[in-house]
Parts: sequence; structure tokens; C-alpha cells
Amino acid sequence: MHEKTKLKKPLGKARLIPGKCIACGARCQSDCRFQAIDMNEDGAPIIDIDKCTGCRRCLKVCPVEALEIFFTPEQQEILNRLAQEGTDIVAPDSEEETSDEEARIASKLKQYKGVWIFVEQTDGKPATVSWELLGIGADLAKKLDVELCSIVIGDKVENLCHESFSYGATKSYLIDDPVFHHYRTEPYYKAICHLTDKYKPEIVLVGATGLGRDLAGSVATELKTGLTADCTGLSIDEKNFLLQTRPAFGGNIMATILTERTRPQMSTVRPHVMCMPEKDVSREGTIVRESIPLTEDDIAVKVLEVIDDHRAGADAIDISAADIIVSGGRGMLAKENFRLLRELADELGGVVGSSRSAVDAGWMPPERQVGQTGKTVRPKVYIACGISGAIQHLVGMQDSDVIIAINRDNQAPIFEVATYGIVGDLFQVVPAIINRVRELRTSKTNQC
Ligand SMILES: Cc1cc2nc3c(=O)[nH]c(=O)nc-3n(C[C@H](O)[C@H](O)[C@H](O)COP(=O)(O)OP(=O)(O)OC[C@H]3O[C@@H](n4cnc5c(N)ncnc54)[C@H](O)[C@@H]3O)c2cc1C
Repeated sequence: MHEKTKLKKPLGKARLIPGKCIACGARCQSDCRFQAIDMNEDGAPIIDIDKCTGCRRCLKVCPVEALEIFFTPEQQEILNRLAQEGTDIVAPDSEEETSDEEARIASKLKQYKGVWIFVEQTDGKPATVSWELLGIGADLAKKLDVELCSIVIGDKVENLCHESFSYGATKSYLIDDPVFHHYRTEPYYKAICHLTDKYKPEIVLVGATGLGRDLAGSVATELKTGLTADCTGLSIDEKNFLLQTRPAFGGNIMATILTERTRPQMSTVRPHVMCMPEKDVSREGTIVRESIPLTEDDIAVKVLEVIDDHRAGADAIDISAADIIVSGGRGMLAKENFRLLRELADELGGVVGSSRSAVDAGWMPPERQVGQTGKTVRPKVYIACGISGAIQHLVGMQDSDVIIAINRDNQAPIFEVATYGIVGDLFQVVPAIINRVRELRTSKTNQC
């Protein structure tokens, strides 16, 4: 009697369909469990077919169907033989393994619930970015139908739990101990990991300040989860994943990043990127007191002295807190010409900012730089003088309430985001505005 040979049907290999990749942010690469995908300089995948198992995960995550399956000549030969001989085809193991793995991950992810915001504080004074995060956190929690919680860690900081309730949190996890008086990476990340291990939040948001960046990176590394830094947009998709949008590839594209296989989903957001929510002191919530077994002797780093950076000689003006910013770019031509912008800023009660070109030229200190590698600002009025409007500048100021652009090139991209555009020579326009402001002020004084 003739027994049929049991041959496995080849799964094929993945390959890129030319011209279809949109460089979405390496989703296919991060989803490949076999390290078969690398990215080229343009953000498109390079697939190592020796490592590719044909599992099709990359095809499923690609948002534009830019990948397809093909069969190598050897695999094609097997397929032809199977077709000709009518041989039994055995379901390939890797498909079964993939679905088992998917089920395991899905059940793990289901254990995580809630949106958590880390409340940053220094000497008990909260960073306002934490309240901004409660604003966006409330939108995410509402969409997911889960609780919005704050994490408060420090020394005598219970009042911050109540303040977080007034900005929308309904529960606050508090670790209050002298060991947390000064921020140090080790005790703080251990405290957060302790809380997340115990209560399993699905989303944790942290301000992208110096402290927040240090802390979020340590927590994500310890928890072996994904972290998207400097997000400019956060929302929830139809599968309840957190969509984390941020500039990528030098700011030339906006990438939307998902943490599909691990929890919590972690993001940092810079100050002033999200809107400040309404404060309502009548709101109340629940405080969950926690502690971790950590003493001063367990911590290697000691804080000997805290030196205020303003005393250490840094720029005393914080442009990100200003309501009016008059910014200058390469069109200012020289350092001394910034005097003109200072005059206008003084008239309006504002401060002077700048583009990176002006900082690189040594005309302005780095603390005044607006943009992707500078500060994100959201003033009531932003006046851009001699700034072209490169995407890296725009991401730092495009959410200002009113943008006034002065540029002699009517094609300058800054006009695309401007509320009012003035095409002209800034050395004529700015003095004219200063004179007009002074005239208006004088006539108002005379009326009084
Ligand atoms: C990774 C990366 C990060 C970056 N981060 C930042 C960042 O954080 N912030 C930032 O600003 N840039 C950043 N850049 C640089 C950015 O790409 C631009 O090079 C920069 O913003 C250009 O500065 P600018 O507009 O002052 O100069 P330019 O692009 O040279 O523009 C000067 C403008 O002045 C106008 N002008 C000249 N003379 C006059 C006049 N007399 N009157 C009116 N208009 C005049 C010109 O028409 C022109 O539009 C980054 C770049 C990279 C690659």
C-alpha cells in the first residue's frame, strides 16, 4: 500500500512592494519576532529572507499594505509538487505557535486597566506639565472607560493628591517618605515599578522635563515596555491601543507609534504641548497610600547640595511660561539686531525667543530656542521675525493662540501656520509696530 508523504506547505517570505512604504515608524521591524527586519535611512524595511519565517505579522501591522508574501524558487518547487501529487498538506507549526502566542499576549494585556499620570514635584512644588497631562489623560480614560489616576511620590506631598483631584484625577497613589525628598532615579523608578506591578495601569504618562525623561526611561527599561518620548499627540484607536504621535526622522514626518505587546504603554509629553484642564477645587478622589521597603542606606546616590541653575548663571527667563514671545531667526542678520526685538517684547510685556539658526550663530542663548530641540511654547501671541518656518521650528510653536509672521519671502512656510502674515522687511515692519504700540499707549493714557 502506498502511503502519502506528509510535506509542510511553505509559508513564503515577506518582501516590500516598491513605492508603497510611508516610513510609518518601523512598526514592521518592532513587530518581527525573528529580527528579520532592519530599516534603511529612509525608514523603509530591509528584510533578511534567511531569517524571515513567513509568519505575516509584518503584513498585518503595515498600515498601507506595503508588504507582500512571495515564494523562493525552492518553496515554489515544493508547492508545485504538492499541487501535482495531491499530497497531504500539514498546517505549518509557526501559524499555530503564532496564534498561541497572540492569545497569551492578549490575555496578559487584559489585566492592565487605567490611565496614570506621574505628578512631578520639586520641594513640593508641582510641575504644571503634570496637570496638562491630567487634561489629555481624562480624554484617554473617558475613551477607554477607565479611571484616571495620579502618582504622587515625595516627602510631605499629600496636598498634591488633592490638587490632582481638582485637575480631574479620581484616585491618587501616594508614596510619602523622607527618602523621596530629593529626586533620585533609583528610589523613584523603584517606587513607580512597585505601583505598576501591583496595580497594572494600561497607560502611564510622564512630563518630558529633565526629571521626567530620566525617570520614564528607567521605568520603561525596568518594566521592559515601550516608551515614546516627546509625544505631540495622544489618542485611542478602535482596538483601544494608545496612538502616540511624535516627530520622526529629523521632524520631517510625524510617526504614530503603538505599544502592542507590552504594558503599560508609556509616553512623555513636553510642557505646553497639551492644554491645561479647568481646575475645580470641589472635586474629590481616593488616596491609596503605599510604601516600599527602601531606606537611605539602600540608595547609592546622595544629594549634597541643590544649586538653582539661575544662580549658576543660566538664562533667568523661561520662554515656555511667557504669554507673548517675539522670536527672531537668521533674518535678524546679527546679534545686535535682537535689540529691536527686545524693544518690541518690552512694549508688549513679552520675552524674546529665537530659532535654532540664531542660537547656532551665537546671537541668542540655547534656553531661548523654540522648536524640536528647543522649547515647546504655547503663548497667547507668537511673533516670528525673519524665521522661515522649518518643521523643526513649527512643532515648537504652532499651537500658539495667535501667530504673527514677518518675512520678506511670501512663500516662507511660516505663513502656512500664521494667523496674520506680514510680507516685508522686518527692519521696517518691527519699528513700525513698536511706534504704533507706543502711539496707542499714549492715546490711551491721554484718555484716562
Ligand atoms: C534634528 C533637527 C532639529 C532641529 N531643531 C530645531 C529647533 O528646535 N528649532 C529651530 O528653530 N530649528 C531647528 N532645526 C533647524 C531647522 O531645520 C531650520 O534650519 C531653522 O529653524 C531655520 O532657522 P531660521 O528660520 O531662523 O533660518 P532660515 O531658514 O535661514 O530663514 C530665515 C528667514 O528670514 C527671512 N528674512 C531674511 N531677511 C529678512 C528681512 N530683512 N525681513 C524679513 N524676513 C527676512 C528669509 O526670507 C527666511 O525665510 C533643527 C534641525 C534638525 C535637523
